[in-house]
Amino acid sequence: MVDLAKNPAPIPLLVDGALRAAETPDTLPVVEPATGRTLALAPRGGEREVDLAVRAAARAFPAWRETPVPERVQVLFRYKTILEREHQALAASVSRENGKLLEDARNEVRRGIEVVDFACGMPTLAQGRTVEGISRGVDAHTWRVPLGVVAGICPFNFPAMIPLWMFPIAIAAGNTFVLKPSERTPLTGLRLAELMLEAGLPPGVLNVVHGAREAVDALLDHPLVRAVSFVGSEGVARHVYARAAASGKRVQAMAGAKNHLLVLPDADLDLTVNAIMGSAFGAAGQRCLAGSVLVPVGDAAGPLLERVAKGARATKVGDPFAQDSAMGPVIREDARARVRRYIEQGVREGAALVVDGREAPGAADGYFIGPTLFDGVSPESALAREEIFGPLLATVRAGTVEEAVALANRSRFGNAASIFTTSGRAAAYFRRNVEAGMVGVNVGVAAPMAFFPFAGWKSSFFGDLHATGEDAVRFYTETRAVIERW
Ligand code: NAD
Repeated sequence: MVDLAKNPAPIPLLVDGALRAAETPDTLPVVEPATGRTLALAPRGGEREVDLAVRAAARAFPAWRETPVPERVQVLFRYKTILEREHQALAASVSRENGKLLEDARNEVRRGIEVVDFACGMPTLAQGRTVEGISRGVDAHTWRVPLGVVAGICPFNFPAMIPLWMFPIAIAAGNTFVLKPSERTPLTGLRLAELMLEAGLPPGVLNVVHGAREAVDALLDHPLVRAVSFVGSEGVARHVYARAAASGKRVQAMAGAKNHLLVLPDADLDLTVNAIMGSAFGAAGQRCLAGSVLVPVGDAAGPLLERVAKGARATKVGDPFAQDSAMGPVIREDARARVRRYIEQGVREGAALVVDGREAPGAADGYFIGPTLFDGVSPESALAREEIFGPLLATVRAGTVEEAVALANRSRFGNAASIFTTSGRAAAYFRRNVEAGMVGVNVGVAAPMAFFPFAGWKSSFFGDLHATGEDAVRFYTETRAVIERW
C-alpha cells in the first residue's frame, strides 16, 4: 500500500517496463471505503499518457508476436507461482481499496488465478484447423493470429479479477496490452502488472495508465489500439461500444445487470436462504452477478422472506478485515446515497420495507449501509428495473413459474438469473426460457469459471465474443485462412 503521509506523489504509470510519473499534474483520490481515508492519489491521465503507453505496446508487439507461444506461456507459468505467493497481499490490497471482505477478496484473487491457469493452455487453445486436400494438390488451414495492441478498461468492483480476465489471455495469444484500472481502485491492477515484469515479461508488453473518462476516450480513439475490452456500467459500455467501433476497433463491453432469483415452494429452504443472502448482500451487492430481485413463486414467500429478513437483520456490517464482519461498505458516499434514494423511493411507492439498511450500525467514517429487504415491490418500479449496485433486495411476488420467468424477461438486462427448486421440470423450463446468459439452478451467483465465457446477454453485454473461455481466445485473435498449392 502507498503511504500517503510518507509519499504524497501520485502513483506511477507502467510504461515500457518501468514505473514513471504521469505528465498531468491532475489527480484523483483513491479512498479507502471502510474509513473514508485517502490511500493514494491516482494521476488523471489523458491523451498524453495513453499515447506513451500505446506506443510502447506497439513497439513491443513485433518481438512478442514472434516469440513462440510455448515461450510466451512460460511467463504465465512463472506468474501463476508469483500470484500464489502474493495471494494474501493481493487480497488485502483488494479489501483495502474496494471494501469487500478479506475472504471475498481471497476468492476474487483465486478466480483471477484461474484465468492465468486457462491462459497457460494457449499452445492448445490457439490451434487452428487443417484440411489436407481441400482440392487437388491444395491444403487449407486456419491460424489464430494476434491483433496487436489491445486496451483493457476496468470497473472498481473486482480490482484483481477483471484485469486478470483480460491481459493474461490477450498476452498469451501474442498481443501487447494497455490496462486502465478503475480510478477508484487502481492499486491492485498496478501491482498485478508489476508482478508480470517479475515473471519475466519483456518491457512494453503490458503497460498501465491511470485516469477516468479522458483516458478511456483517448484509448478508444487511438489509431494503434486494435481492440478494447471493457467492463463497467451500462451507459459507459454503450459509449465505449459505439466510439471504439466507430474507429474500426473490435469491442467487447460487459455492462450492468438486474438479476432475478426465483424461489419455488419446493426449494430446499436452508440452501436457498444461504444462497440468496450471499447473492444479494455479498460484496455489499456490488457484483454484476448479484441477485437484486427476489421472486417467490406461490406459497414460497412466507417462510422464505421470514428467513431472509432474519439473516439480513443479523448481518454484521463493518471492517472488511475483521473476522466477525459479514459485509463491508459500498465504494463511495455517492453509492451509499444512491441506495438511500432507492429506499426512500420504495417507501414512497408503498412497498413494504421489511429490513431497513439505513439503520445498520457501521463504523462512522466508512460508507456503510446495511442489507435492505423490500416486499410487495411493483414490477414497474425503478427498484425492480434499475441496477442499484448496493445491498438492496426487492421482492416481486409471482403466482407461477411461467409468470416469474416472464417477469425476469421484462428486464432490459440479461446477465444472470437463478432458480431454487427441487423440480427438474421447473428447472428445465427456467433454463430454456429465461433470457439471461448465466443461469443458476440452486446456485445464487452463477459465475462461470475461466474455462467458460462470462456470457451476459441483452443490455448486459455489447459485442459478440465474451470475456474468458474460448470466446476470449477468439476475441484476442484474428483468423487467417491459408490455402496452399504445392
Ligand atoms: P463505471 O462504468 O463507472 O466505470 C468503468 C470504467 O469506465 C472505469 O475505468 C471508468 O474510469 C470508466 N468511465 C467511467 N465513466 C466514464 C465515461 N463517462 N466515459 C468513459 N469512461 C468512463 O463502472 P463501475 O462503477 O466502476 O463498475 C460497476 C459497474 O460495472 C456495474 O454497472 C456492474 O454491473 C458493471 N460490471 C459488469 C460486469 C459484467 O461482466 N457484466 C462485471 C463487473 C462489473
